[in-house]
Amino acid sequence: MKYEFSKAVENLAPSGIRAFFDLVMNSDGDVISLGVGEPDFATPWNIREEAIYALERGMTSYTSNMGLSELRRHISEYLKKIFKYSYDRHTEILITNGVSEGVDIVFRSLLNPGDEVILPEPVYVCYRPLIELCGAKVVSIDTSLSDFIPDPKAIANAITKKTKAIVLCSPSNPTGAVIPQSVLNQIADLSKKHGFWVLSDEIYAELTYEDNYPKIANLPGMKDHTIVLNGFSKAFAMTGFRLGYICAPKALIERANKIHQYAALCAPILSQVAGVEALKGGRTELDVMKRSYLARRNWFVKQLNKIGLPTVLPSGAFYCFPSIKETGLSSEEFALQLFKSNSVAVVPGSVFGAGGEGFVRCCYASSMDDLKEAVVRIEDFLKKRK
Ligand code: PLP
Repeated sequence: MKYEFSKAVENLAPSGIRAFFDLVMNSDGDVISLGVGEPDFATPWNIREEAIYALERGMTSYTSNMGLSELRRHISEYLKKIFKYSYDRHTEILITNGVSEGVDIVFRSLLNPGDEVILPEPVYVCYRPLIELCGAKVVSIDTSLSDFIPDPKAIANAITKKTKAIVLCSPSNPTGAVIPQSVLNQIADLSKKHGFWVLSDEIYAELTYEDNYPKIANLPGMKDHTIVLNGFSKAFAMTGFRLGYICAPKALIERANKIHQYAALCAPILSQVAGVEALKGGRTELDVMKRSYLARRNWFVKQLNKIGLPTVLPSGAFYCFPSIKETGLSSEEFALQLFKSNSVAVVPGSVFGAGGEGFVRCCYASSMDDLKEAVVRIEDFLKKRK
């Protein structure tokens, strides 16, 4: 049988992050992985216990497509309390299988072939392929020229009649940069003037280390133009639960739910019950995790700078993005050679799009012992090259 598949899928490049993840998984040595972007904490016990208890009670059914009403109520209250957002649980919040599904169904709800989406890069790897699967075009902006903060002038220059949306990922994966309020204000003005959507991926919003989290959705007039994506994977260490949500105007939620009801039906009920507990269970564990990331960020970034990899102190998430330009290697060469000679896995910056070359992504959500050993090994790698 000669198989023939969708041309759009054939043209998709595999995820560069997963490629490095597979490399680590298939090696037998004592590898230190700074490669995968996931909390190194297990989900807090009260949350796991609630999921176990729900299973014991036989909660094994579907939920409504939109998600458990109780979970949407807690999300609505949480967003109001923490971010001062105002979203109606009945019409403006849709529970998804992680932010990943949210991104997919938002693009599929919005985009027609030929539409353009402005994508400040380097950025998390899922947006570009999902935009392209809709037949829409990515208009990339290189933020490495402006400290990894999207430059409003560059955005203004990228706008055309076909611009349908801009993607903002703040705090950023892979750089940890947080877009300042003054920049968000200017992007909001452009969005209102030209009538395009802002897709704001706020999955790391709780992991912001300086001041308040700068927001776009609650600027005057912006609720109508903004789609907020958030979830439980990072702040609550719940990656395996696959739980996220979309907050957006009713009309967009209705469209996204049309796809969701056919393609996913609903998020798993046990995860939704766990999500309720995450939001009502207090913030003690969340604060402990956040303080721990902060301490590791401060130590690790200082060490990278000391051993000769210039690294900007990131304001959020659990990534840093050291420059490897002085080694003369491409980011892929650097990552491969470091892995082969010193068994440390990092992700080449080039996989995150424009402006990522010359950098590597390190996830510092690893134990202090592993971070210390990683610094020793990276320093050894750099010395051997001199
Ligand atoms: N958005 C960003 C910026 C991410 O870094 C990730 C995962 O690394 C996701 C979305 C996917 O999150 P989820 O686990 O909720 O699907």
